[in-house]
Parts: sequence; structure tokens; C-alpha cells
Amino acid sequence: MERIYIGMGSNLADPAEQLRSAVEALGQLSLTTLAGVSAFYQSDSLLPGQPRYTNAVAALESNMAPLELLDALQAIENDQGRERLERWGPRTLDLDILLFGDRLIDEPRLKVPHYQIQERAFVLYPLAELAPQDLRLPDGRTLNDLLAACPFVGLERIPHA
Ligand code: ATP
Ligand code: MG
Ligand code: MG
Repeated sequence: MERIYIGMGSNLADPAEQLRSAVEALGQLSLTTLAGVSAFYQSDSLLPGQPRYTNAVAALESNMAPLELLDALQAIENDQGRERLERWGPRTLDLDILLFGDRLIDEPRLKVPHYQIQERAFVLYPLAELAPQDLRLPDGRTLNDLLAACPFVGLERIPHA
């Protein structure tokens, strides 16, 4: 089993409900156990003119292969009505693989760690609820290092109801 962290985001069609549905679908994946879910966080879109986002992180323990998991995540996105009209456009559901054990993956369809993990407070702060602070990325940086360089700005934490 490997520990995997999934970044979840939505800014269409009742985002919190989209994330709850996604969590349920993650819990039903084969070869996989849902190990935890962070609080939900709201923030403004990185691009102007889009609705606010709701984001969270889920932890999985899985025996799936990385590309197999990516296929499964894209199937969940599609089930929840994800349309790919423009890059970074508004979406019902985005599921990104943030970390996959201590693997470094550089394939055309899959780059892990996620390339923008260190830029995104809405990824790092929910991740920190689930992962040990001394967690190391494959390049040696700790989660603590990344948090220290990424202020908690523009985020609103919504505890679980
Ligand atoms: P961003 O990657 O900046 O968060 P996005 O999540 O909106 O943007 P998508 O449209 O969801 O981008 O995905 C585009 C492609 O990214 C996918 O088809 C997938 O093959 C690829 N991809 C590469 N690395 C990853 C990863 N770690 N997790 C999910 N998809 C990835
Ligand atoms: Mg994304
Ligand atoms: Mg994505």
C-alpha cells in the first residue's frame, strides 16, 4: 500500500456537495482505502471572473498503479459532469494527484508531485491537516518548508458540518 494525497477542487454546481460526492467515490475505489479528508477551504479563483473555489485534500492508501489511479480519478470527474472547455476553466470537479508515496513520476499524462503544490495555499494547508509536518517530497523539501513559504492568505476554512 502507498499513501497518496489527492487535491480536490470545485467551483460549479454546489462545490461542497461536489466534494462530498467525490469523497464517497474515492472511498469506493478498488484496491484503495480512504484514510482521511481535510476540512473544506474556500478561496477566490486564481483567474478573474470565476466563482469562488472550494478545495480539500483526501488521503488514500492504495495498491493501484499511478496511471490506473489517474484513469479512475478522471472517470469520477467525468461522472460528476466535468467539461474541459478551456484550460483552468470553471469546473464541477478537479481531482489531482499531489503525492504518490515517495515517487517522482514524469510521464506525459502524469507528473508527481503536482507541479504547483508549493504555489497553492489551498493545497498545502488542507494537506497539512492529514500529513506529518516532517513529510518529505521526493526532492527533499519538507511540507513545513513549503508551508513557511506560502502564507495562509485568502483562504477560509470551513470545518466539517
Ligand atoms: P492544474 O494541473 O494546473 O491544477 P487542472 O487540474 O485544471 O490544472 P486538468 O484539466 O484537470 O488540469 O488536467 C489536465 C491534464 O493534467 C490531465 O489530463 C492529466 O493527464 C494531467 N496531469 C499531469 N499530472 C497530473 C496530476 N499529478 N494529477 C492529475 N492530472 C495530472
Ligand atoms: Mg488542478
Ligand atoms: Mg486536474
